[in-house]
Amino acid sequence: MSEKKLPLPYSDLEKITETFPTPFHLYDEAAMSENARSFLDAFSWNQEFKQYFAVKATPSPFIIKLLSDIGFGADCSSLAELALSEKCGLAGDELMFSSNDTPAEEFAKARELGAIINLDDISHIDYLQECCGLPQLISFRYNPGNLREGNIIIGEPKEAKYGFTRPQIFDALKICMRRGVKRFGLHTMVASNELDADFFLETAKMMFELAVEVKKELDISVEFLNLGGGIGIPYQPEDKAVDLHDLGRRIKEMYDQFIVPAHLHPMKICMECGRVITGPYGYLVSRVLHKKETYKKYVGLDSSMADLMRPAIYEAYHHITVANKQHEESTETYDVTGSLCENNDKFAVNRKLPRIEVGDLLVIHDTGAHGHAMGFNYNGKLRSAELLLRPDGEVKQIRRAETLDDYFATLNFDDLAEFQTRTDAESAQKTQQV
Ligand SMILES: *Cc1c(COP(=O)(O)O)cnc(C)c1O
Repeated sequence: MSEKKLPLPYSDLEKITETFPTPFHLYDEAAMSENARSFLDAFSWNQEFKQYFAVKATPSPFIIKLLSDIGFGADCSSLAELALSEKCGLAGDELMFSSNDTPAEEFAKARELGAIINLDDISHIDYLQECCGLPQLISFRYNPGNLREGNIIIGEPKEAKYGFTRPQIFDALKICMRRGVKRFGLHTMVASNELDADFFLETAKMMFELAVEVKKELDISVEFLNLGGGIGIPYQPEDKAVDLHDLGRRIKEMYDQFIVPAHLHPMKICMECGRVITGPYGYLVSRVLHKKETYKKYVGLDSSMADLMRPAIYEAYHHITVANKQHEESTETYDVTGSLCENNDKFAVNRKLPRIEVGDLLVIHDTGAHGHAMGFNYNGKLRSAELLLRPDGEVKQIRRAETLDDYFATLNFDDLAEFQTRTDAESAQKTQQV
């Protein structure tokens, strides 16, 4: 069971909306920090353990800074994420660059910052060497194919576009060694939003065995193993969170069983989790604009899937609390919708909730990762603000809401006045003249 509570009393929440109009995402800094410290503690048996926060989950400088102050690095997969992490003061081996289908300019930026480069394909060795030279330390993303089962969000490994096959890992190590690379890491990521701790234990075992085989066959002592991200969170109240300390202990047992006897100790263990770090500590706060009764009962909010895509694209469950009716019984069944002209713009379908009125304040839970970040501007919808609830109760706006000016910023209006539509005949004439 995971209790779905609000980070502050309703009256305080209502007060925040006087300064910052709904909708907005609210992040609970104290809870986020405590969770981040606890995560590091669970793996503190591994001296050099590093958790690289997957920036794509919540690409906000305040969140990246908050986590880096606690000892996290940043896991980036695009130019913007690298540049954002750089602005937060991260560099060198505090940055993991795990991208795919990567443009040369992104490799160049990663090299410039001294980030650890985690290649997605064997052909990227030549590509990287040509564009910016091979670094001293290089990592490869392993895709176990048929050897592992994936899960719904990320799919079966053998159908996934990511990573090297097993033989390619060995070939890549040999190629890079011949070209003077001395230090290596291996990475994998085979699950997303997975709540079964055994899955991650299996992943650790798979990577430990791979490192042992690499040592045996090529006499290479891999410097780090990156177990990826993908640890799930209890979106449903009846879900159970992964016990990270228990997982840490079990991975240590596995480490002692495989890594130590192979003389690979000390080996640095890395992870690049996003969701489990920030997900449960974000809340989308939104007000009821309309009620509608047709074949079903609808509650229309002042937010939309531009602010939170997961229910629409994954049919994901996000718990909803009616903040001003927390002690009322759930007697009604509603579809809770946004305003996009897309029928799947629904935060919830057939959800049991207390009787709702226009003006009620709804809180959608677990939006701290892959929430605001996934938003888009389809249908001219503008993304909401992001607020940080400080431990002392202060509320800091860490991103303002988008405005129409933001939306229009990339459009060419300058040439519009002299732009005249041509008929087909005029176009043909013009072509002949040329
Ligand atoms: C998305 C992603 C992550 C983070 O996944 P979470 O589910 O948020 O933990 C880590 N590494 C890579 C390569 C990713 O694409």
